[in-house]
Amino acid sequence: MFKGILIEKDDTGYSAQLKEIDESVLHDGDVTIRVAYSTLNYKDGLAITGKGPVVRRFPMVPGIDLVGTVEHSDNADYKVGDTVVHTGWGVGEVHPGGLAEKARLKGEWLVPLPEAFTPKQAMAIGTAGFTAMLCVMALERHGVTPDDGEVLVTGAAGGVGSVAVSLLVNLGYTVVGVSGRPEENDYIKSLGASEVLERSAFSSPAKPIARERWAGAIDVVGSHTLANVCSTMKYRGVVASCGLAGGMDFPGSVAPFILRGVTLAGIDSVMCPRPERLEAWQRLSRDLDASKLEMLSSEIGLSEIIPVAGDLLEGKVRGRILVDISR
Ligand code: NDP
Repeated sequence: MFKGILIEKDDTGYSAQLKEIDESVLHDGDVTIRVAYSTLNYKDGLAITGKGPVVRRFPMVPGIDLVGTVEHSDNADYKVGDTVVHTGWGVGEVHPGGLAEKARLKGEWLVPLPEAFTPKQAMAIGTAGFTAMLCVMALERHGVTPDDGEVLVTGAAGGVGSVAVSLLVNLGYTVVGVSGRPEENDYIKSLGASEVLERSAFSSPAKPIARERWAGAIDVVGSHTLANVCSTMKYRGVVASCGLAGGMDFPGSVAPFILRGVTLAGIDSVMCPRPERLEAWQRLSRDLDASKLEMLSSEIGLSEIIPVAGDLLEGKVRGRILVDISR
């Protein structure tokens, strides 16, 4: 038995509880891990509250990412005592995840802990930070450089947004954040953003094309926000779209694409191929100012997960939420 959050669904309904979990709940995998830290991402909030159809197999341990120590391994690439990091691959959705003392995963999903980070720092980054890195890599791949002009980051006080702002600033970009929480403006500026715009400026239906401003953009919100971001991109600007915090629709026009040559780059961290995963962690080691991680993360224990998951979905939390599995 081990302690963790278990999501169950039966005739009485959907429930998430902290309880003692039987090992039989763990699925197949060739590496068993003693989890040290996990985190709360937006997707974990949806899974724990049941507000989104994230969990597709029951009972399920939520937690899409984790860092921990190998306890048992039938995989030649990992030995007992190794510290490993996991994000994505349907873990916490169809395969038991990180919000518990123990996880059993496939070795091919794991990444060795990058030397630049402690286990705690790796989870302060977690899925959200990894996704922010993939977004930055997409902007670069499509040719956006710091000399091209300002880069916009929506949901800037959230997990993906906070790490995206930090990364871009460290790489020399001029970054403008968008936030719906004026009380977090100083925080976003302390990460290095030059300006913070009010969320409402992006939430009305978008014109097909509007005054151009952004050389690049990272959007975690979707819906009208994404449409407004696209219509205000500069000629040949690039938008990395990774989130749906404001909605899954895209009520936009093709005008920015066919008149300004704007590129819309889709970002998925879950099934991201291993070579790009390893590259992204290497880039995080090099390009993220690790001293900012403390500022952009807060820590909770297993018993605090359920109430905080609700706050996360209501947009009330700042940056990244680390979960110390030992308390
Ligand atoms: P957080 O909850 O930490 O951050 C989301 C931020 O979006 C909030 O802090 C808030 O920022 C803003 N926001 C929330 N609701 C709204 C709204 N209705 N309209 C406009 N802005 C809003 O979540 P994460 O950073 O972990 O994830 C962000 C998004 O990215 C989620 O949709 C998540 O599912 C997605 N995601 C996708 C991944 C992928 O692989 N594609 C991987 C990881 C995340 P502020 O208060 O500053 O306005």
